[in-house]
Amino acid sequence: MNQTQDTRVNLLDFDVEGIKAWCAALGEKPYRAVQLARWMHRYCADDFDAMTNLAKSFRAKLKDLAYIKAPDVITVKHSADGTRKWLFDVGNGNAVEAVFIPEDDRGTLCISTQAGCAMGCLFCSTGKQGFNRNLATSEIVGQLWYAEKTLREEAGVTDPNDRIISNVVLMGMGEPLQNLSNVVPALKLFLDDNGYGLSRRRVTVSTSGLVNQIDKLAAEAPVALAVSLHAPDDALRDKIMPVNRKHPLADLMAACRRYLKVAPRDFITFEYLMLGGINDEPRHARELIELVRTVPCKFNLITFNPFPDSDLKRPDREKVLAFAKILNDAGIVTTVRKTRGDDIDAACGQLAGEVKDRTQRAKRLIEQKRALGILPVRDAAQS
Ligand code: SAH
Ligand code: SF4
Repeated sequence: MNQTQDTRVNLLDFDVEGIKAWCAALGEKPYRAVQLARWMHRYCADDFDAMTNLAKSFRAKLKDLAYIKAPDVITVKHSADGTRKWLFDVGNGNAVEAVFIPEDDRGTLCISTQAGCAMGCLFCSTGKQGFNRNLATSEIVGQLWYAEKTLREEAGVTDPNDRIISNVVLMGMGEPLQNLSNVVPALKLFLDDNGYGLSRRRVTVSTSGLVNQIDKLAAEAPVALAVSLHAPDDALRDKIMPVNRKHPLADLMAACRRYLKVAPRDFITFEYLMLGGINDEPRHARELIELVRTVPCKFNLITFNPFPDSDLKRPDREKVLAFAKILNDAGIVTTVRKTRGDDIDAACGQLAGEVKDRTQRAKRLIEQKRALGILPVRDAAQS
């Protein structure tokens, strides 16, 4: 077969400024670029011929030089609670997941930023898969573009101001702050009135705590920030989240305080994953109160969601509620996250997709778990 390289660009790789620059190089005026951006992101269009207010000559150029395409969908799963999970093919045997969570007053899309993750958190299904690569901007934006397009078509929504997805959280597969160069244009597009027009409060980046990159995010696209805390002291956090060995809690708290100067909300959300028998005692809650004394914050407690061979336990419901009460009594607003979509493995930490591991992560995780006493030596030796 005669294979000719496709040299066209995927327009989902650009934020609105990027589309303007690309159009300018073709001799097109900025307002033409804005019209194009609106077709793509407000109407979720991918057919240049349908963009009827663009000059025919411009449309012809677009067809020659560009295309609009999300990653292909491999599977879609529907949960009994209305949650939906798409598995997207990102090539070379890698696939990533996005999850739509409908609620009464909002529709949230949880999207992935990397094929796998290199952070190696002990409790995470994505981390267990290892890391392959960063997603391109088009692959990040494509998840939102595709989900909104599909949901609109199903619901018969045509008004560009009626959005089905009102909130976006970067809490799927991957560490968003390790892929800032591709994540920032995506965030800009989510916020742009000629893109998805979401307010900065409705776009949340969740990070395991990369301190320098938190500062970069503050400078480049300050959206709502969620920080995965998961332990009240360095000794425990070092064990379950290797990132802590490089960026200990004192540095992380300082980064949170700096972020608050530009954040769209006047608090940081701390996610705290409750792992049975590891970090779920009342004393851990009391230590947390001390830790965050100087950081205006809210807590979101997540109950550990198991996945195959996770070797970790969910804490009892009473333990979670008692933990929440200690924080709430200390004046820290604390909620317990509802588990959604666990019947289709779409709950937090269960996203695994398909990842061709380039990092030997699985082997190292076993060693970490043995050090923590979660795995008996015999099991570790067998693996
Ligand atoms: N890498 C980023 C965002 C993706 S993970 C981060 O770590 O923050 C999104 C959230 O799911 C994080 O708070 C993460 O700690 C949590 N999580 C990971 N594994 C989990 C599991 N098995 N059960 C419940 N939550 C989990
Ligand atoms: Fe990566 Fe987040 Fe999972 Fe940790 S919890 S391994 S940072 S995706």
